[in-house]
Amino acid sequence: MAANKLRFNSKVIHGGQEPDKAYGAVMPPIYQTTTFAQSSPGKNKGYEYSRSANPTRTALENALASIENGNFGLTFASGLAAIDAVLKLLNPGDEVISTSDLYGGSYRLFKKVFENYGIVFHFVGTEHVSNIKDRINEKTKLIWLETPTNPMMNIVDIEAVSQLVERNELLLAVDNTFATPYLQKPLDLGAHIVMHSATKYLGGHSDVILGALVVKDESLAKRLYFIQNASGAVSGPMDSFLVLRGIKTLHVRMQRHCENGKAIANFLRKHPKVEKVYWPGFEDHPNHKIARKQMTQFGGMISFVPKGSNYNDAIKIVERLKLFTLAESLGGVESLAGHPASMTHASIPKEEREKIGIVDALIRLSVGIEDVEDLIEDLSQAME
Ligand SMILES: *Cc1c(COP(=O)(O)O)cnc(C)c1O
Repeated sequence: MAANKLRFNSKVIHGGQEPDKAYGAVMPPIYQTTTFAQSSPGKNKGYEYSRSANPTRTALENALASIENGNFGLTFASGLAAIDAVLKLLNPGDEVISTSDLYGGSYRLFKKVFENYGIVFHFVGTEHVSNIKDRINEKTKLIWLETPTNPMMNIVDIEAVSQLVERNELLLAVDNTFATPYLQKPLDLGAHIVMHSATKYLGGHSDVILGALVVKDESLAKRLYFIQNASGAVSGPMDSFLVLRGIKTLHVRMQRHCENGKAIANFLRKHPKVEKVYWPGFEDHPNHKIARKQMTQFGGMISFVPKGSNYNDAIKIVERLKLFTLAESLGGVESLAGHPASMTHASIPKEEREKIGIVDALIRLSVGIEDVEDLIEDLSQAME
């Protein structure tokens, strides 16, 4: 059966893959080599130098293209290197519209690096499509979205935004790190570029840093491939292998992340010491209907505010957690907790932070795939 006809759970295992041509190895070998022998100058077996292409990387790039319903995958040394490659499509004077509660590293890359090259960034509340529409002018060349957002779990209507770009001939890119293609496929909803920090759910085991882009359009893929090779921030063979292995269990891990996430969101919501829980699966989440339309389930990322708590109270709670590890990052099999005000979002001034809902007591959870009863007991004891 042609791999592109497969259903998602089969695609994560077989999509874009075929047994190794040399010995039939079921998993693509780790081609830990810089260069490839040529029989005559320019005559080779499809590979000549590993920055330009490497068979292990190709296997991962094809797998990603398959599971995101794209035609071309490109992988990079990190999620930020993948974003960097997209921004290099732009020229001085071009404008970008992005979200006000953007991933901190993306914000830093936009403001502290690319602004120096004359690119102009606008940050708006993208959960209201009209805010984006109002910002579009003839210089706008890229809309950069995240949904769900971090850490406020806002939902952005990808299809509605894609209708704006159709009319204006600009690029729509979606950072799909939080949802993964198991929950949401931006290219099917009209995005031109999907980006991943594969460091998170795709790798899934907190043991590799890697980034990816997937596109449908061949000329866009060629422009990005040129930048990937010219700038050189490619993923190495070992890291590509690890993410490929991670992807093979994406569906079963995501299923459990979603089940555990739902149970914990409901537990927190009923807890007398919890004031507010942010999770797109709640029917009264402001954009729940859009989440329901564009996502198959609601994921394992949750933020909450303990009742009557300040900065130090929240720190005490995360310190008391035993099974949840206090750490940056997300999307691994193990549950992690974070305190955005002192960790991921510490560089944003308090006033700015609070404008978008990141209060001092906000705690963010990346719910893992442990027994959910153990996770709930851990949260209970930490809040006592
Ligand atoms: C982690 C993350 C990134 C950056 O990825 P790295 O692999 O750490 O470079 C970008 N976007 C989101 C939403 C992330 O969570």
